[in-house]
Amino acid sequence: MSDHSKNDDAQWREKLSPEEFRICREKGTEPPFSGEFWDSKSVGQYTCKCCDKPLFSSASKYDSGSGWPSFYQPLHSEQIIEQRDIAHGMIRTEILCQSCGSHLGHVFPDGPDPTGLRYCVNSASLNFSEETK
Ligand SMILES: [Zn+2]
Repeated sequence: MSDHSKNDDAQWREKLSPEEFRICREKGTEPPFSGEFWDSKSVGQYTCKCCDKPLFSSASKYDSGSGWPSFYQPLHSEQIIEQRDIAHGMIRTEILCQSCGSHLGHVFPDGPDPTGLRYCVNSASLNFSEETK
């Protein structure tokens, strides 16, 4: 079922909180309106919680009303893997970090212009680094 090894799991458990591990490595979802970033308007870059690769910019973040941080495009599309997800009786597109395989959230086709996409991401899957002037 899972393609990550026990060794990897032990390392991630050391690096992440139990909640972060559940979301990032076991494809969990944080409750809406609960995460650190869902209504953050700070200017900067969102990076992968697990491997620190840049994933999203605050410039493409918007208020989707969903209670999760939402972006209409990733910083670099090659940094995001899309994967069909049929869990929970729904057909969705899961998004993962290309570098470390961390679960980020899902992408939905109901976003704003210019892409029409909504990258719906768990706060627990992200770190934020504020832009320095
Ligand atoms: Zn990563």
